Amino acid sequence: MTPPSRTESIVHVIGAGLAGLSAAVRLAQAGRRVALHEAAGHAGGRCRSFVDAAMGTTIDNGNHLLLSGNQAAHAYLRAIGAENSLAGPGIAEYPFLDLASGERWSLRPGRSRIPWWIFRADRRPPGTRASDFLAGLRLGLASEAATVADCVDTRGPLFRKFWEPLTVAVLNAAPGEGAAALLWPVLRETFARGEAACRPRIAAHGLSDSFVTPALDTLRKHGAAITFNDRLRRIVFSDNRVSGLELDSGSVSVGADATVILAVPPAGAASLLPNVAVPEDSRAIVNAHFRLDRRHDGVTILGLVGGMAQWLFWRGDVASVTISAADALVDSNPDHLAEQLWREIATALGVESTPLPPHRIVKEKRATFAQVPSALAKRAPTRSPWANLLLAGDWTATGLPATIEGAICSGHSAAEAVLAGAAKA
Ligand SMILES: Cc1cc2nc3c(=O)[nH]c(=O)nc-3n(C[C@H](O)[C@H](O)[C@H](O)COP(=O)(O)OP(=O)(O)OC[C@H]3O[C@@H](n4cnc5c(N)ncnc54)[C@H](O)[C@@H]3O)c2cc1C
Repeated sequence: MTPPSRTESIVHVIGAGLAGLSAAVRLAQAGRRVALHEAAGHAGGRCRSFVDAAMGTTIDNGNHLLLSGNQAAHAYLRAIGAENSLAGPGIAEYPFLDLASGERWSLRPGRSRIPWWIFRADRRPPGTRASDFLAGLRLGLASEAATVADCVDTRGPLFRKFWEPLTVAVLNAAPGEGAAALLWPVLRETFARGEAACRPRIAAHGLSDSFVTPALDTLRKHGAAITFNDRLRRIVFSDNRVSGLELDSGSVSVGADATVILAVPPAGAASLLPNVAVPEDSRAIVNAHFRLDRRHDGVTILGLVGGMAQWLFWRGDVASVTISAADALVDSNPDHLAEQLWREIATALGVESTPLPPHRIVKEKRATFAQVPSALAKRAPTRSPWANLLLAGDWTATGLPATIEGAICSGHSAAEAVLAGAAKA
């Protein structure tokens, strides 16, 4: 495939994470010429799979949970022909285990948009009352300054069994610091739309198999030029527009009709753009993957409280646990972490805890920006101060948390702006 000429009207997409890939796919499918430049030797960014030599199998950088109500994510998967690549239960059911007490329960949202299910004791966590859930409606009225803990009752059992795990999973932040204004849109798009919108979903055969490889195949089919190990080092600005890109592969002149979509994480955007504020702080996520000596045909998704691990995913012969808001663990000894987390998995799955199976600890230090109230005003809009430069990424002003859904929404917004002619030379 001949790459697009370096000066003709094309869209340069910088960064092949889900924001960049979703923008590139939408544009390529609309008939635009696309050149995708990625700094790493692979695509997917913070959402990818790789072969781990120690485990002798392919693992994801981190477990990624989606919900059936994530509309942009599902539209993207349809666009790349991967809509059947997610797995999960046929109904919205979230089994939980309290590792400290051994208590098990399931959260089972009902079908109606009106959450009648909260009045059914067998559908909500034990010891909780419907009125505890109703107090959560305050999240919908929260100001940008409010944290989740400002809006919900932090003393009762519903906090430990619902609000805290939900907040940490969605915002990668504890309720005491996580922005209420970012949790509400997720509740509105999923739990408030009934059971069919809140079924848990994970990539059946790994993140790259669902989100990355089919996107690259789609782009290649449409003639997009994709270059890896091609970091953007500097943007050349002339007046109020981008006129050139200095990439590892060489300098590119950005012609009069060409557009640039910058889809890199916030720190990278700040280093390339003069005077653009971005959320500076980030939060870590730690994942531990263990290769079991037996296979599991379906997919197990189990919420955990009372221990260190927060979510357990078991797919094939790999069981993994996620710890979000994990900055305190970033410097911990991986061997100690693995031993502790394996004991929790063994308890949860009812298997022998010795010996420790082949495993890998993956620490993503900058998994998401810190989704705290003070960061909200620093999320940049799609349109930048430069006429032919658009911004995308999970940290931009999508109104959503830093998730797959948010990243893909940002990519789609940037692509739509190009197609609407909003980014003019
Ligand atoms: C461990 C972990 C668990 C997560 N769990 C969930 C979950 O359960 N559910 C969920 O929805 N979301 C989850 N997320 C969040 C989700 O992965 C991200 O929101 C999403 O992948 C961000 O995509 P992005 O395209 O905005 O950014 P990135 O994925 O960071 O992509 C940016 C890309 O730009 C490239 N780049 C950077 N600088 C340059 C440059 N100068 N030139 C060229 N390329 C450059 C990078 O290499 C990267 O490929 C999780 C994230 C992590 C890390």
